[in-house]
Amino acid sequence: MKKISRRSIVAAILSVAMVIGIAMFVYNYVNDGAAWASFPSNQHIYTNGVIASQRILDRNGVVLYKTSKGKPAYNENKTIRKATLHAVGDTSGNISTSAMHVFTDQLIQYDLLNGVYYHHDNGSDIYLTLDANVCAAALNALDGRSGTVGVYNYKTGQILCMVSAPTFDPKTPPNLSEDNNGAYINRFLSSAYTPGSIFKLVTSAAAIDNMPDLFSRTFTCKGSEKIGNSTVTCLKAHGTFNFKTALADSCNVTYANLATELGRGVLEEYAEKAGFNKGVTVSGISTATGNFGLSGASKSDIAWSGVGQYTDLANPCTYMTYVGAIANGGIPVYPQFLSKVTSENSAASSSYKKNVGSRILSKSTADTLADLMHNNVIQSYGKRNFPGLDLCAKTGTAEVGGGKKPNAWFTGFIRSEEYPLAFIVIVENGGSGIEVAAPVANTVLQAAVKALKASD
Ligand SMILES: [Zn+2]
Repeated sequence: MKKISRRSIVAAILSVAMVIGIAMFVYNYVNDGAAWASFPSNQHIYTNGVIASQRILDRNGVVLYKTSKGKPAYNENKTIRKATLHAVGDTSGNISTSAMHVFTDQLIQYDLLNGVYYHHDNGSDIYLTLDANVCAAALNALDGRSGTVGVYNYKTGQILCMVSAPTFDPKTPPNLSEDNNGAYINRFLSSAYTPGSIFKLVTSAAAIDNMPDLFSRTFTCKGSEKIGNSTVTCLKAHGTFNFKTALADSCNVTYANLATELGRGVLEEYAEKAGFNKGVTVSGISTATGNFGLSGASKSDIAWSGVGQYTDLANPCTYMTYVGAIANGGIPVYPQFLSKVTSENSAASSSYKKNVGSRILSKSTADTLADLMHNNVIQSYGKRNFPGLDLCAKTGTAEVGGGKKPNAWFTGFIRSEEYPLAFIVIVENGGSGIEVAAPVANTVLQAAVKALKASD
């Protein structure tokens, strides 16, 4: 009996070890299989270090990049090459959030059950949601200045324009070891900036939900006011007005007072809802997280945080998603730039699926914000500056310190069933949001609407 039980113990140990071994293999296979298959020494896929045969195209089938027998080639138009660089990628693989880098699994058509489908002569086509001409228009509008421009369809999530500057021509990449002013970084996805007054949309949402008398109140601005141990200033004395005008005039004094009245917890709750501290996921890519936090903040810190200064940091893509959710009645549709993968082998093809988040604002709060943002354009920004567009928007002029000019922001959306586009523009050290970022937004939106009309 003793012998038998010892044997069964040994058998039990062996079978447990086998189960653990299989589990470890399956775990590694699921997690790393794509990496094993796409390892650059896999001669089934790579020639001369690049994927032997593939194409990356824009939404209209314009070829942005292709390889044929291991020879890479970009679009022949230099502006398009530079404008789509961060989305497409560089052949050295230094732009880590690019299609070339991230969609490698799709490029070689790897999948867990069937392995690699890829054939040398018959690579796959990766269609991006971007419009190359709209991206080129955005790069031209930035006119040599650093910053980023994003435009997306807030109903489907498809990104039409994603441009980051400075950029470079991928045919002649700069030396990585030199200071390129962050040319290898996609600022739209991977940066975080002080938001300044565009943050007043978050403070407004909190005020609408938590101050029942908000729209019957009057506010007075004398141009500056001491709050806590700091003086909050406006460019001028705004006088006495209602809440609608407080946002249209972007009155710092009013918003600083609203912030201290709302308090730490409420502001943090609404910043979290807007995606601060977590960012969004774009076609599998995590954006920079941004920052909003008031632990240990003094009264004046809270005041400054409510006008988008203090330690507030916004990721452009995440904030555009928030503005898109306002346009969409309170529900975010997450931006994506991978449209579809097509190939001879239909089993490896994929199609676009929209990625809808859960509600972050009530329908009525979102619609109220949209009306306020529309009023901003009518009352302050000038409808004539955005011809033909039913625009809702907010400016930002974010102080960055160090004697530098402020960062210029402009964000918002078009109220339209046909052209439901939300956007964000930042021009680094550009100056005033309305003077510098708004004209860039108008140029790009006009190009985007024209492109969508043409493809109807
Ligand atoms: Zn004011």
